[in-house]
Amino acid sequence: MAKFIVVTISLGLILIVSMIGSLPVLLWGGTGSDYFATCCILIALQLFIGKIWNYFIDKRLDIHLEQAKASSLLAESLQYLSTNCAYCGTTNLVQIIVGKDNTFECTACKQKNLIMIETSCARITTPVIPKADLNSIFSSIDNTPEKETDGE
Ligand SMILES: [Zn+2]
Repeated sequence: MAKFIVVTISLGLILIVSMIGSLPVLLWGGTGSDYFATCCILIALQLFIGKIWNYFIDKRLDIHLEQAKASSLLAESLQYLSTNCAYCGTTNLVQIIVGKDNTFECTACKQKNLIMIETSCARITTPVIPKADLNSIFSSIDNTPEKETDGE
């Protein structure tokens, strides 16, 4: 509904501006059809200019959205880890971005460190006993009454 009102008001303004803008045609001795033709040209011109205007507004909005996306991606890719200084061994909590050269200044000795990231791999294993069987085994253990042993 709000959009309909906005469109109606906009079209009304375009029509009024075109009608007023075409008045000089009548003042300079133009006929009614000259006035109507000028009015139509002014309407088309305003719609065309409006289209171009909206195109640039949309492009500006797209650029702002892309910037917002980029900064949120950067915020997501920031990771924190604690690592020891290569000079004095003090543990520092540092920010890293994977895929970039990460450096930090030690809080204790103020030396600049380069962070080297190493990776290691592990096999993905499947449990020998299925989880359902494990649950039944654990529940049977819980229900087993403890046997009293004779004191040694
Ligand atoms: Zn240090």
